[in-house]
Amino acid sequence: YATKKAHDLVIIGGGPAGYTAAIKAAQLGFDIACIEKRGKLGGTCLNVGCIPSKALLNNSLLYHQILTDTKARGIDVDSNGVKLNFDKFMAAKEKVVGQLTGGVEMLFKKNKVTYYKGEGSFKDEKSIIVKPVEGLEGSVAEEIELETDKILIATGSEVTPFPGITIDEERIVSSTGVLSLKEIPKRLAIIGGGIIGLEMGSVYNRLGSEVTVMEFQPAIGASMDQEVANTTAKLLKKQGMKLKVATKVLGAQRNGDVVDIEVEDIKSGKKSTLQADILLVAVGRRPYVQGLNAEAAGLEVDKKGRLVIDEEFSTKHPNIKVVGDVTFGPMLAHKAEDEGIAAVEIFKTGHGHVNYNNIPSVMYTHPEVAWVGKTEQELQKDGISYKIGKFPFIANSRAKTNMDTEGFVKILIDADTERILGAHIIGPNAGEMIAEAGLALEYGASAEDVARVCHAHPTLSEAFKEANMDAYAKPINF
Ligand code: FAD
Repeated sequence: YATKKAHDLVIIGGGPAGYTAAIKAAQLGFDIACIEKRGKLGGTCLNVGCIPSKALLNNSLLYHQILTDTKARGIDVDSNGVKLNFDKFMAAKEKVVGQLTGGVEMLFKKNKVTYYKGEGSFKDEKSIIVKPVEGLEGSVAEEIELETDKILIATGSEVTPFPGITIDEERIVSSTGVLSLKEIPKRLAIIGGGIIGLEMGSVYNRLGSEVTVMEFQPAIGASMDQEVANTTAKLLKKQGMKLKVATKVLGAQRNGDVVDIEVEDIKSGKKSTLQADILLVAVGRRPYVQGLNAEAAGLEVDKKGRLVIDEEFSTKHPNIKVVGDVTFGPMLAHKAEDEGIAAVEIFKTGHGHVNYNNIPSVMYTHPEVAWVGKTEQELQKDGISYKIGKFPFIANSRAKTNMDTEGFVKILIDADTERILGAHIIGPNAGEMIAEAGLALEYGASAEDVARVCHAHPTLSEAFKEANMDAYAKPINF
């Protein structure tokens, strides 16, 4: 290779796992390089995941609230005056993505992380080749060999295809395509009632699309606490979304500007055809190792395509570690980031840790759904006896003033020790409130510990306190 360079640590992938690890490693004193082939830092999350989807969710909610909620709040809006400019709506999303990906690049400069725009590929377990990416602005001009003692793989995940359905990102789209539609579809069909499907369904339902979600399982939101999942389904239906559960999609075909989708009702075996203007395939994500040439280092991949590691993130070589979506565990940005930090701490000091029993999940619909720790189903399966504390937002003063009272907080505690085992919130700002539950879990708090903490009034978090009161005694306001 014409160019050879040496670094202490080379990170492949500049997503939440990789970029967080890169900055942490630089702070710990490593001479660090990060290779990213997308042309922008921030990975799936900042470019085509968490951030653009939340920009669309927030702005569609605001639009929907102006259209439907303002009157009851004493705000007079001339309905002729409320119009959605879809181009500007999409441009607002692009702007925030640009600001955040550019922000990570600035942080790389500030922390002196060497950033290679190119594809990282193993030569052997001590060297990585950075290859140019055709058509990518700023790509390395020629192959560069990086010699390094330590390597961190953070190559993330990609959309799982649906067998027999061709994604053209025009009429049949993935989560990436649905973030950049050219116009609001009259009819949007979605395969998959998971978080991504329901979030994007919410966006377009608010913008006026007729949304139909098809889910193979008997319920949507598979990993949620059952009671919360049922309430979620009820509320989304009330908002106008059609949820077809226990429905098997047999195939889909684009015919000009429409998509014909063949479905089967699992219970009755009845087949029918559904028509949509856009079909979103949202059946999950799978680990991404294409182009990495992991074989050159003899790295093991399991049946699900995940790079195999031990509890210290190590492959069979202790100096080659793996973090984020490309390995075990939930595919979440915050899990990826925490693993990135823990892995470089292990490289530096031999110690680093992520508590996998305490990783929150959030669905950013309205109301939001957030949970951490065990569900009732899991506790029953494990034979753990538990008590339930619940508090509805209809009895919370702030939710009342905000006219946003749907949902509840549900706390699960150990029947003997009263230690908190899980928290499940469906309601306004659930995604923010779940952080308090995470803190309580991490410190091994009991429901009484939380209930005795003074919570500001009037706040939604008082509902969290009262649910804890209900778990070991009785709430005050319900
Ligand atoms: P990624 O973000 O996928 O980053 C990996 C990077 O590595 C990519 O940029 C890729 O280009 C690069 N790369 C891969 N191979 C190479 C190579 N050989 N050389 C160089 N570069 C390479 N999670 C949440 O926690 N909250 C949410 O609200 C949320 N919303 C989401 C919404 C959508 C629509 C989607 C699709 C995902 C969402 N996620 C959310 C999941 C989240 O985006 C991922 O969990 C997170 O991005 C994983 O981070 P990562 O660094 O492991 O991988």
